[in-house]
Amino acid sequence: MSNIFRITQNDYSCLIEALLSMKNVEQGAALFAGHVQREGKNIFMIREVLPIPQNDMVYQHSTGRRLKASAFMKLAEKAYNQGLSLIMAHSHPGTLNTFSTTDDNNESEMMPRLLMLTDNSIPHGTLVMDSKGRMDARFWSPGKASPTPIDWINIIGRPMKNIPTTSNHSRKSNVDIFLYDRQVKMFGHDGQKLLAETPVTIIGAGGTGSVIGNQLAYLGVTNFTIMDEDLVEHSNLNRLLGASPKDISKYKADVLADTICRINPEAKVKVFKENLRADNVPFELTESQVLFLCTDSMISRAILNDISLRYLIPIIDIGVGINAKDGEVFSAGGKIYLAIPGIACLQCLKRISADALLQEQMLLDKRYKGYVHGYEIKRPSVISLNSLIASQAVTTFIDLITGCLGHQISYVKCYDMLEGDLLTMDIIKESSCRYCDSLKGMGSEGSTSMKTSSCR
Ligand SMILES: [Zn+2]
Ligand SMILES: [Zn+2]
Repeated sequence: MSNIFRITQNDYSCLIEALLSMKNVEQGAALFAGHVQREGKNIFMIREVLPIPQNDMVYQHSTGRRLKASAFMKLAEKAYNQGLSLIMAHSHPGTLNTFSTTDDNNESEMMPRLLMLTDNSIPHGTLVMDSKGRMDARFWSPGKASPTPIDWINIIGRPMKNIPTTSNHSRKSNVDIFLYDRQVKMFGHDGQKLLAETPVTIIGAGGTGSVIGNQLAYLGVTNFTIMDEDLVEHSNLNRLLGASPKDISKYKADVLADTICRINPEAKVKVFKENLRADNVPFELTESQVLFLCTDSMISRAILNDISLRYLIPIIDIGVGINAKDGEVFSAGGKIYLAIPGIACLQCLKRISADALLQEQMLLDKRYKGYVHGYEIKRPSVISLNSLIASQAVTTFIDLITGCLGHQISYVKCYDMLEGDLLTMDIIKESSCRYCDSLKGMGSEGSTSMKTSSCR
């Protein structure tokens, strides 16, 4: 069980600048964060970093600082109005990388007051950073007399980073260096550990999802959530990697989970056999650090994009298409999109088409009303193309987690099967995206109408 602060790479840079720009002076910043609690685990998704200006301080020197009461009230009011947790951060100019006794005393006065000011409805936190950037953090929950430690700070960017807080004494897992010897030569020992420790969700356990699940299991990933509501049909057996005729009528998610556990008996696999539109989906996904979207539908993309931004989880979106008739292929290929909160989402990568989304929704409505039977159109699908695109997606994942390819992997890759070309595209992103801006780090709560501010 662990508690986490999640922050985008850009906001993390803002935080370092806000706390460490002046030597020999304690500095402060206010962080606003969405919060989710699941199975005793708390995740805070940082939405905004506000440096505290000198004007808002009563005093500020090398061993202490005091915030004006009026400034504190304003921050509490903002947190309450937006339904967000307030995380008060400060620096220690020396090398004290945890909370001081003065911090303990100040917090035991300030935090119960903050909880009361926000109606005892949301937890709030504190963070301290020493001059070397080492951090400790904790949070105070309504009705609890003492704080709970934060174990990890997740940095969402390229590469993804999991930084343990000073008070996290858990030992990282060991990996079987003999089993993974050949790839440890590529990613390094640390890279292999990072892959083992990254929880992933695969949405869609079909043609591409099953290949991705198999590859990730061989790669040494150990923490999976598999989401698919469909059953294996006879006509799926041409492309469901690991499935055989005895799996017909079983859930695709169960079949993939069994295959993963056969490959890697150490793996923990959670299976979720509901539709992506189910109410509990966002909570099921919050612990994941990467979402593989293998359903190739606009509705799924729109739902996942919302979840990715609200909970700060990158998406690797995979789409494959073949246009063919009677043995003649007119076009065939696939696309891989990497959407990282704080950099770009599937909307600003232009992956979601409003027209296609509307069409899918209308078709779905008709199906619910019984006008159309069988929503899924049986499009051509072949394992060689699925596997090629799935392999590209897994390579993107390896680079995202280990950085071993120098982050050269593009955000958008397109493969043309007829030409045999794999093209990469730069992000063509408008300067601001209303989805990125309004949803970032919101969790399930809060108003979505406000804008994030920049530290620059
Ligand atoms: Zn302190
Ligand atoms: Zn966006």
